[in-house]
Amino acid sequence: MDFELPEEIRLLRDTVRKFVDRELIPIEMHSMEGPELKPEYKKSLEAKAREMGLWQLDTPAEFGGQGLSLLALAVVWEEVHRSIALPNRGDGVFGPSPRPILLRLPEPMKQKYLYPLLRGEKSAAFAQTEPEAGSDPGRMKTRAVRQGDHYIINGYKRFISHAKGSDFLQLVAATDPEKGSRGGLSVFIVDMDSKGLSIVRENHHMMGDVTYEIALDDVRVPVENLVGEEGQGMREAQSWISRNRVHQATHGLGVTQRCLEMIGKYAQQRVTFGEPLSKRQAVQFAVADLYTKYQTGQLLTHRTAWKVDKGIASRHDAYMCKIFCTELGFEAADRCMQFHGAMGLTDEMPIEAMWRRSRSYLITGGPAEIMRATLAREVFKLYQ
Ligand SMILES: Cc1cc2nc3c(=O)[nH]c(=O)nc-3n(C[C@H](O)[C@H](O)[C@H](O)COP(=O)(O)OP(=O)(O)OC[C@H]3O[C@@H](n4cnc5c(N)ncnc54)[C@H](O)[C@@H]3O)c2cc1C
Repeated sequence: MDFELPEEIRLLRDTVRKFVDRELIPIEMHSMEGPELKPEYKKSLEAKAREMGLWQLDTPAEFGGQGLSLLALAVVWEEVHRSIALPNRGDGVFGPSPRPILLRLPEPMKQKYLYPLLRGEKSAAFAQTEPEAGSDPGRMKTRAVRQGDHYIINGYKRFISHAKGSDFLQLVAATDPEKGSRGGLSVFIVDMDSKGLSIVRENHHMMGDVTYEIALDDVRVPVENLVGEEGQGMREAQSWISRNRVHQATHGLGVTQRCLEMIGKYAQQRVTFGEPLSKRQAVQFAVADLYTKYQTGQLLTHRTAWKVDKGIASRHDAYMCKIFCTELGFEAADRCMQFHGAMGLTDEMPIEAMWRRSRSYLITGGPAEIMRATLAREVFKLYQ
């Protein structure tokens, strides 16, 4: 068993680390304008990322990207999440990152949606969540009913990231409500300028993210905009979910790495009652535990990514990885805040933003309770 990362991934990690240390951390306290990266930073960081070979890392090579393995991506993402310079969720500055749904479209649909997205001419949002269907998409009320060569879609979506400014939605709707998430949901590509589609409200979240509520009132969508087969919506929507969970786990790892760097330095400088914080057992134990958990989480994440790359991961691998590392990220940000005292609460340091962002990952991408419950069922099967 070899625990060393392959050399090309180590080199890539060093390059990304340089990018983060030189380009992101210095601007992170003033890089954003609301939920977006300021346009001037976006432009220059994208140019820099291209120059350093950090462009379209996760797009398959046949579509002009680098087609990196998930293991390599996990290493990249962890480094990037050491900084809060980039938006919490979104494409960042490393080029378009299409969902697998789009990569599998038939050629004429690729011409219309995928290639413009890869060229940066179009952007997309993913719309599944509804007021009554969050963690449980089977309760979805948005209906798509076939009429001749069109589907008529009626319903309401909420918490949709990037809906404003996007050109099209990858929308999940019920084609057979009786079957729910077991064969009753389908994915459609829906143009944002379709008649009957409107953004009716926006929600502002504590992490700075903005999401949108979308009403669909008799929206007509051609049958060719159905992705895959009718009833395969959950499979289509979930096809990227293990990757996404690994991505969320790397957020926790990146935050933990940065918090360890910050606690490590500060605890050795800050003196109270005649001794630096680093000499206090309460601080030492917390640092030792965080470091141990960081190493554990990183091993788990690399192993999960490696299993996904080999096609042998179960969804439970990604659950364990996501639960452990997102909870670790929040714990690390919380400890880092505590040891920095009042300074940690100010917006002059990145800690409070890391704390807010990390908290959100305990809810999005699958709440921990649901993943734990599913995981427990699997564990009980092992010990019948
Ligand atoms: C910033 C942000 C961006 C988002 N972007 C998108 C997007 O682009 N597209 C999209 O479709 N959605 C998006 N979402 C929605 C997100 O996916 C949902 O919020 C998530 O699926 C949870 O659904 P919910 O909020 O309705 O919570 P609910 O499903 O109502 O769950 C609420 C809480 O109940 C508990 N719970 C639920 N079920 C169980 C159970 N079985 N056992 C024990 N406890 C349980 C958990 O603690 C959970 O947190 C976004 C959300 C946020 C915050």
